[in-house]
Amino acid sequence: MKEEHVSRRNFIKTVGVAGMGSVLARSRAIAQTPPSPAGTPPTVPLRPFGKTGVKVPMLALGGIFDISTNQLVLQRALDFGVTYWDTANSYTNGNSEKGIGMFFEKNPDVRKKIFLVSKAGGPHTSERMNSMLDLSLQRMKTDYIDVFFMHGIRDGAELTDEMKAWAEKAKASRKIRFFGFSSHGDMENSLQAAAKAGWIDGIMLKYDYRLMHTDAMKAAVDACEKAGVGLTAMKTQSKESFNLENEADLKLGGHFVKRGFSEHQARLKAVWENPQIASICSQMPNVTVLAANVAATLDKTKLTNADHAALRLYARETCSGYCAGCAHLCEAALGHNVPVADVMRSLMYHHGYDDVGLARETFTRIPESVRRQLAALDYSAAERACPNRLPITRLMREAAELLG
Ligand code: SF4
Repeated sequence: MKEEHVSRRNFIKTVGVAGMGSVLARSRAIAQTPPSPAGTPPTVPLRPFGKTGVKVPMLALGGIFDISTNQLVLQRALDFGVTYWDTANSYTNGNSEKGIGMFFEKNPDVRKKIFLVSKAGGPHTSERMNSMLDLSLQRMKTDYIDVFFMHGIRDGAELTDEMKAWAEKAKASRKIRFFGFSSHGDMENSLQAAAKAGWIDGIMLKYDYRLMHTDAMKAAVDACEKAGVGLTAMKTQSKESFNLENEADLKLGGHFVKRGFSEHQARLKAVWENPQIASICSQMPNVTVLAANVAATLDKTKLTNADHAALRLYARETCSGYCAGCAHLCEAALGHNVPVADVMRSLMYHHGYDDVGLARETFTRIPESVRRQLAALDYSAAERACPNRLPITRLMREAAELLG
């Protein structure tokens, strides 16, 4: 892994005074980092992406925002070496991909510096993948995508021979360099299947300080590492998503303020401690968040045992407000008729990320006939099956009311 030191002065020059103020407010630790060789700009360290031979920045720009109207974030990301850009066909009705296309059109030399990822939602048939890929290429004004993902798979059974053949053909046509999938639910199952399949280059998975310590997740990540699959973590903040800020949040924030960085930066650091994770894809819709996350990559302060204990305590105290994505448990209890985990994800975007648009977008991908009956169903079997004891009945009714 490439490691770079950064001087405070160089960092201020790059972030700008306003950005630096907010970074320093969140991260006293950046001021303690040793100086870099004169004139070296601070850029995010790199890590290998599986066996692809490509190194990617350990922080990736998540593009779930209207990039057309916020081009500045892309420019600042470039300045910091955040050259792994992630988007999807569906984000902000295409304005995420179109915004990247606008930027490439104005800055034609930039495309070759970017590790560009996009994703196509299901159903994952060759025909649909062809049309989704062509749409992404056209919107982003590029003739290739570095990694093209099947968006949001739930099961290794989705790694079909048809998709394998499609990926080989798309690579041969040079429209994509690598292929893989993203997964928000039952991630361990899909990771194990990918490691066995041998034709998956990269995976973006829900992965955070809560999930990373389970035996199933550790085994799945080990299997992918052995198979040379590049892993990108997403949803790493894993805040307690369904209740308003509570005492546990305040306690966690207080602990890390004394340590000189924010609890957000601490959650990122916890995931980066695992070198098997190539990068964290973070939703950074403005320069302040981007600068704070970049500061966390450059800061050399390690999490202590007390820091890990604070995160574990928070995870325990707030688990009833956190959906772990173990959809096979609650959904099996309901005869696989209701996508409980997708509804929980919609609510997470609404409450945890304050992103009503994305919450609605995710919710409306559930078939209308299912959405219509959500508020009326009996979820007691799902609640019994849920290891986190989520109040599923209350949350399903809330989702139907807020997003329906
Ligand atoms: S609702 Fe519970 S069982 Fe279902 S995916 Fe979330 S945490 Fe797992």
